[in-house]
Amino acid sequence: MRKVDYLIVGQGIAGTMLSWYLLQAGKKVIVIDDAKSNSASRVAAGIINPVSGRRFEPAWMYETIYPFARNAYRQLSELLQVPVFTERDLWTVFPSAQMRDAFLAKTTGNEYTELPAALKYEAFLDQPFGAAVVHGATVNLRSLLPAYRRYLQSLEALEEIHLDANALEVTPEKIIYKDITADKIIFCDGVGTTRLPYFKEIKFLPNKGEVLLVKIPGLETADIIKKGITLVPQENGLYWAGSSFVWDYENDHPTAKQREVLEKSLAQLLTVPYEVVEQLSAVRPSGNDRRPMAGFHPEFPAIGLFNGLGTKGCSLAPFMAAHFRDVLVANAPLMPEIDLQRYF
Ligand SMILES: Cc1cc2nc3c(=O)[nH]c(=O)nc-3n(C[C@H](O)[C@H](O)[C@H](O)COP(=O)(O)OP(=O)(O)OC[C@H]3O[C@@H](n4cnc5c(N)ncnc54)[C@H](O)[C@@H]3O)c2cc1C
Repeated sequence: MRKVDYLIVGQGIAGTMLSWYLLQAGKKVIVIDDAKSNSASRVAAGIINPVSGRRFEPAWMYETIYPFARNAYRQLSELLQVPVFTERDLWTVFPSAQMRDAFLAKTTGNEYTELPAALKYEAFLDQPFGAAVVHGATVNLRSLLPAYRRYLQSLEALEEIHLDANALEVTPEKIIYKDITADKIIFCDGVGTTRLPYFKEIKFLPNKGEVLLVKIPGLETADIIKKGITLVPQENGLYWAGSSFVWDYENDHPTAKQREVLEKSLAQLLTVPYEVVEQLSAVRPSGNDRRPMAGFHPEFPAIGLFNGLGTKGCSLAPFMAAHFRDVLVANAPLMPEIDLQRYF
């Protein structure tokens, strides 16, 4: 029998950050991950945007979570020796005069946004209503996740298998899974939680996002470009172009319908030809109130959950994982806004 303090299920951004903080606290951890190629973290663009949604509201707790995340990703970059975090501008193109006015009303005086002295990208973009610059960042999940996986392997702390929740033995003090005994199991399994027998009360509102990887000959920039659709420069010269939001879907595979939707948005943004190289899709693990979820099962305290990162995994995960670590190892009180008891 292998004995650990915590068994973490899932190595998306949630399981990565939580396991890292627990290891730093000197805890013994095993992470189980089945390497699903289209998990949310493996498909996401990794954007951190201080301005939220179509109404340009300031993102929840941004003043606290952004500096925390920046510091955490820089530390991980140093530990793993891969590029993880890049501060970038989001060139935000206004789709209409009304949207420009709404943006200005919400963001004037805000340190994260400014109006550019002159328009950029005029040869490539349709932007009759102008654009604003939003100071954000990206997390390079495609280098972070595999590099952290190798780090876990070097610590003999990774099991690349699918955890079958029906094979778990649960007692009030511990859990047993195959040859592993742990004081607690923490599910960081993204949308996988919706299929578990333990958290049926939680009101998940998972939504599927589809993305195109495109070549745009001649366009070279480090900026993110956004107008309905968002273009994020990738290391291989391609652009990540996404993403759609669908709440009613049959499965998590790419569809012709969403490709059409994405291409329509691209046509509204670009005035130059582009070529689609690949189409990706994944399901975002969102709760009905769009807040993260952390805490313990009311009947089985050995079973925990860290989930609900929704559309904002990259900005929320570091701070929320560090907070949950404090709850786990130092009995800190759990923030009521994220406590999953709100569902029970
Ligand atoms: C198209 C798209 C674009 C996005 N863009 C952004 C963005 O730009 N910025 C941003 O911050 N967020 C973005 N998001 C949201 C972000 O992806 C999520 O908030 C985040 O990835 C959730 O991370 P997670 O670790 O909770 O879940 P996941 O990433 O889903 O990770 C769960 C992990 O658990 C594993 N797993 C599940 N069940 C089991 C099991 N039984 N046994 C073993 N392993 C298991 C899976 O393989 C996976 O590795 C986007 C999401 C999508 C779909």
